Amino acid sequence: MWTVAALQDFLKARGWRITGNKDLLVARAFSAWENDVPLQPSAAELADTAKREYAQLIAGLSDPLKFDKEAWTPETKGIEDWPNVMYHDICDYLMKDHPGKDQDFNTRMLNAYKEGKAFTYYTSGWLQEVNSCKRDGLIYLMAKCRPSARVLDIPHNTWVCCHPTGTIKRAYCSCTAGLGQTCNHVAALLFKVEAAVRTNLVNPACTSTACGWNVAPGKAVELTKVKEMSFRNDKFCKTGVFTFWC
Ligand SMILES: [Zn+2]
Repeated sequence: MWTVAALQDFLKARGWRITGNKDLLVARAFSAWENDVPLQPSAAELADTAKREYAQLIAGLSDPLKFDKEAWTPETKGIEDWPNVMYHDICDYLMKDHPGKDQDFNTRMLNAYKEGKAFTYYTSGWLQEVNSCKRDGLIYLMAKCRPSARVLDIPHNTWVCCHPTGTIKRAYCSCTAGLGQTCNHVAALLFKVEAAVRTNLVNPACTSTACGWNVAPGKAVELTKVKEMSFRNDKFCKTGVFTFWC
């Protein structure tokens, strides 16, 4: 005859509730046995699995979680060098594990990101400052994203690795869905980069920034006699070869 403690251990090991009187525990344990409910992995086993999956995820890349603090450029200084991520890059990335033939399904999935939490994480400021780091021809972007439901919890660490042209290579988030690389926090980070690209904050064209060349000298031009003028060719004047005196 099983004791209450033994029944509770049996149920707990399978992730089932352990409340109720003995008759209820017996019925629940019998049901678990009948349905062949597997044992739940321990916390240590889960940690080992997560570590192994993360090692697979960063294979061939540097691990952004191990970069020195000084390696990161803050958002205000680094935004011009962010990758050129456009909306189609995000679509390609988020959709790559979904069946491409079902376009309607793909559209609904994308809308779920855009209309759901992912976009509001970015627009409502849950996504904090995005730091960037260039390494081995790739650009890493890292940000903390606060959980919207439990604002006092530790923010998630979210990073993406992109080619400068905008192709998204890999992503990670420390939330429970983060190893899947397509959680809402990752999507929020990508939407923020896309918005920065769309508004010309990334790699700004010379025509969209303050004129950096052909600046008028602003000197007053004074009339003078030709014989008092000095003609010189800048290319050669340093050598003194072409300096004409009239
Ligand atoms: Zn996440």
